[in-house]
Amino acid sequence: MKISELFKDGHTVFSFEIFPPKKNGSIDTVYKTLDELTDLHPDFISVTYGAGGTAAGCSTREIVSIIKEKYHTESIAHLTCVNSTKTDIDRVVEDFNTHGIENVLALRGDINPDIPPKEDFKHASELITYMKERSDLSFSGACYPEGHPESSSLDEDIENLKRKVDAGATHLMSQLFFDNGSFYRFIEKARAAGITVPIEAGIMPCVNANSIKRMVGLCGASLPPKFTKIIARFGDDPEAMRDAGIAYANEQIVDLVSSGVDGIHLYTMNNPYVARKISEAVSSIIK
Ligand code: FAD
Repeated sequence: MKISELFKDGHTVFSFEIFPPKKNGSIDTVYKTLDELTDLHPDFISVTYGAGGTAAGCSTREIVSIIKEKYHTESIAHLTCVNSTKTDIDRVVEDFNTHGIENVLALRGDINPDIPPKEDFKHASELITYMKERSDLSFSGACYPEGHPESSSLDEDIENLKRKVDAGATHLMSQLFFDNGSFYRFIEKARAAGITVPIEAGIMPCVNANSIKRMVGLCGASLPPKFTKIIARFGDDPEAMRDAGIAYANEQIVDLVSSGVDGIHLYTMNNPYVARKISEAVSSIIK
């Protein structure tokens, strides 16, 4: 099923993101994670794509196939283009077509200062245009409630986001954020700019102070005082930090759903315990 179809009946879509096992990791860890996550009945699961796309002998595409075929759950394959040529993407399209993949999160990817980007695709919108001409795939895109770090302003980033939607993205998934106010301001501007496709809110439960500081450093999300107080108080106590992080994410989700958000995309970090706690806490308000 094409992901955009999931939004048509008006329910709040609830989805998970996972990443392939790290190098030297075992494929068994994927099955273990998926056994637990699919038991929570998300609307779909997206699978991230790393440089090279393969880890532990198991690619993003293979995990997406497993999610669809073994677990009968809809899935999206993330795909970046910054280090790919058109020939590389032709191969990906062929592989996706052969395996009945329907949904792709088309991404540019981060530019590694040590690896000069290939010239064929400069932006995610160009990847969508190219793949759309060669397949019946359905495309999602990334969006940034506080603006992409390379953009000079949120307004400029939204202009570029509109280009991505015009190229064929029928659904957007947001970068993580901790201040719902920034998401609401973004939605207002995006709708005013004529972006009408469903936009899911990206929620990252902060269960480990160090990893969240690293993530925030990379993506530039701002930290409201309410959130920094939690890290200051519980950052050195793993159990308290985990429980406070789950409670904070639950509060964000309740507020977003009450405000009519199209969907919640939970960055699970392959942690079924956290995904279960949150899914159970919000199940009655999401249904
Ligand atoms: P683009 O949409 O191309 O935008 C990148 C920058 O270029 C922005 O500043 C934008 O405003 C600007 N821009 C866009 N179009 C134009 C234009 N026509 N003219 C001028 N400027 C333009 N990375 C991974 O490596 N693997 C993953 O699996 C992955 N998953 C992600 C999932 C989500 C939900 C999100 C939010 C991000 C994910 N990322 C992932 C990170 C992403 O690759 C980076 O944020 C990257 O820097 C930008 O990718 P993009 O697709 O948003 O790029």
